[in-house]
Amino acid sequence: MTRLTKKDALTFLKSADLLGLGMMAERMRKKLHPDGIVTFIIDRNINYTNVCINKCKFCAFYRNEEDPEAYVLSKREL
Ligand code: SF4
Repeated sequence: MTRLTKKDALTFLKSADLLGLGMMAERMRKKLHPDGIVTFIIDRNINYTNVCINKCKFCAFYRNEEDPEAYVLSKREL
C-alpha cells in the first residue's frame, strides 16, 4: 500500500472528480479490507445554543440572546 502523494492529492483537488475519488477510495478499501466489513464513525457536535457574544462578521449561526430565533437546549434535550 502506498499513500497518496501531495501531487496526486492536488490533482484530485483541482479536478473535483468526486466520483473518481470515491471509486479509488473504494478500491483501496477493498484492497485493505477484502472481507467486506465496513465501519463508520459518526461525529456529532451538539450546538446547545446559538447565542453568542462574539458576533464574528462571517457567522450566520449566532443570535443575540433576545432574538426570537435564539435557543438554549435544556439538559433533557441534550
Ligand atoms: S463563529 Fe459565530 S458562533 Fe462562533 S464565535 Fe463567531 S459569532 Fe460565535
